[in-house]
Amino acid sequence: MGLRDIRERIAEAERQAGRAPGSVKLIAVSKVQPAERVEAVLREGHRLFGENYVQEAQGKWPAWREEFPGCEVHMIGPLQSNKAKLAVELFEAIHTLDRPSLAKKLGSLAQARGASPDLFIQVNTGREPQKAGVLPEDLDAFVADTRAMDLPVVGLMCIPPEAEDPAPHFATLAEMAARNGLDGLSMGMSSDFEAAIAAGATHVRVGSAIFGARDYSGS
Ligand SMILES: *Cc1c(COP(=O)(O)O)cnc(C)c1O
Repeated sequence: MGLRDIRERIAEAERQAGRAPGSVKLIAVSKVQPAERVEAVLREGHRLFGENYVQEAQGKWPAWREEFPGCEVHMIGPLQSNKAKLAVELFEAIHTLDRPSLAKKLGSLAQARGASPDLFIQVNTGREPQKAGVLPEDLDAFVADTRAMDLPVVGLMCIPPEAEDPAPHFATLAEMAARNGLDGLSMGMSSDFEAAIAAGATHVRVGSAIFGARDYSGS
């Protein structure tokens, strides 16, 4: 466990899949982690992080960005429309574009700012009612609609159902991305990032395997 170990496992998974070294980006998911753990990883030189909560990210990252130049922070949690304005100011990418109303909101913010974070569309590959994401059959039209708004859609993202083999979900996501001419594939977490890399992941989102278990009790 730890950053070095995960980097090694990613490099090995790239090799085994016949993929170029460095073709998979490691997003270190720092949500809810104590500051000292995140700072240790920053001191090791890592600069790409993922956060789930806009307010939490707003409280932590401005100071870290000053102290550790070159940081990139991606939003990987569900995004409420009323936090979209703050989110586009805080994050280099948003992985959870999951509905037309949010696309509209991000489209008008992009117009006003003349810039937008890179966007991944979240797909609910497991059709879980409690989970966010566009349903697979709605994806192609949604990609077309977001492109028509001039939004920078760079890829797809999924979170497979917990109790299932993730590999078929990763394969489905890869196929949907290819069909839509999208290069980015945000998939794979602590327990399954190697399977995601085998299926073509370009961004893996790994939290507890780097930082240790999250403790929600104190917050
Ligand atoms: C928390 C979270 C992760 C990281 O989960 P781990 O199991 O700790 O690696 C990845 N992706 C999303 C969307 C998350 O919410």
